[in-house]
Amino acid sequence: MTRLYLPLLRDPLVDPFARTIRYLRVSVTDRCNYRCSYCMPEALEDQMVFSPRSAVLTFEEIERVVTVFARLGVRKVRLTGGEPTIRKGIVDLVKKVANIGGIEQVVMTTNGHLLAELAQPLRDAGLSSINVSLDTLDAERFRRVTGRGDVTRVLAGIDAAVAAGLRVKTNAVAIEEINGDELAALCTDAWARGAEPRFIEHMPMSDGALYDAGRGISSAAIRRALEAAFGALVPAEAARDGGPARYWDVAGRRVGIISAMTEHFCDDCNRLRLTATGDLHACLGHDDATSLRDILRTGGSDDDLVRAISASVSGKRAGHVFAEKPPTKHMIGMGG
Ligand code: SAM
Ligand code: SF4
Repeated sequence: MTRLYLPLLRDPLVDPFARTIRYLRVSVTDRCNYRCSYCMPEALEDQMVFSPRSAVLTFEEIERVVTVFARLGVRKVRLTGGEPTIRKGIVDLVKKVANIGGIEQVVMTTNGHLLAELAQPLRDAGLSSINVSLDTLDAERFRRVTGRGDVTRVLAGIDAAVAAGLRVKTNAVAIEEINGDELAALCTDAWARGAEPRFIEHMPMSDGALYDAGRGISSAAIRRALEAAFGALVPAEAARDGGPARYWDVAGRRVGIISAMTEHFCDDCNRLRLTATGDLHACLGHDDATSLRDILRTGGSDDDLVRAISASVSGKRAGHVFAEKPPTKHMIGMGG
């Protein structure tokens, strides 16, 4: 591929540990219509400062940044939040990003609350795959976990997404009191709907404020519970799909596990994260960030963006240190 930028001594998207970035996660808002207990509980609301609209990247700014990333080699973009579906015009943004030369996959992570209405328009706009958060199938528990969610809407959203032809994965943060007794049921339900269930290990964000190591269910314990219910888990042929999950086949079905804590996958990390306000984070587990918005809003050139991206990538750490030092940043601002 022709590089259009000033020569740098190294590929700007290869980090000091020889990992190549191909995947950009873009948070399109730091706001959310839910208040999940492990992410942004009602009790933290007073301490949260949501960004004013003027601080948030416009669609044109997002398009420009993604275009630069695409020229450098990024192929996959995930739109996330906060809750991406509450950003006005989200379908247009999907279309804009999907039309950027070089971008092969535009995908989204959502709580699913608005998905029943949006699934088909998102698919038509070029979205290929969607991850829907679903921690429990129990309506009362779901409301308690999400603060204000409605599980019937989310299930209808999953069904609409499958019907629209999207690849659908469900995400459950595995926490004993939320879904310790539902791991198998979450799989059975997802499979019946034509979705792929996934489990995520609970990660300590917000300075560890919402974290209690004893409550999270480890990947090994998740696998044991699933094996007890369904029989042997066999590593899937394509055990990774360019994201953090490891996939397993069980009884002819597939399940994904994101072992962020106990079997972390930092060695082959291929991702960067852009927040709604334009901060580029090289790692979810560290607080340092580079403002691309400052460059965009002070007349910076694409070469200036490349230099900032390159500096961020060259500062990418070997791995997270969640257990020793959780980041102070909040998951709601990072998008997972
Ligand atoms: N609002 C969207 C949603 O809920 O899917 C997108 C943003 S949300 C921050 C992205 C993912 O991060 C969700 O699947 C959510 O369950 C997960 N998540 C939030 N806080 C987490 C934590 N502390 N540890 C692990 N996963 C977390
Ligand atoms: Fe909102 Fe998603 Fe965080 Fe829940 S996990 S509070 S839905 S951003």
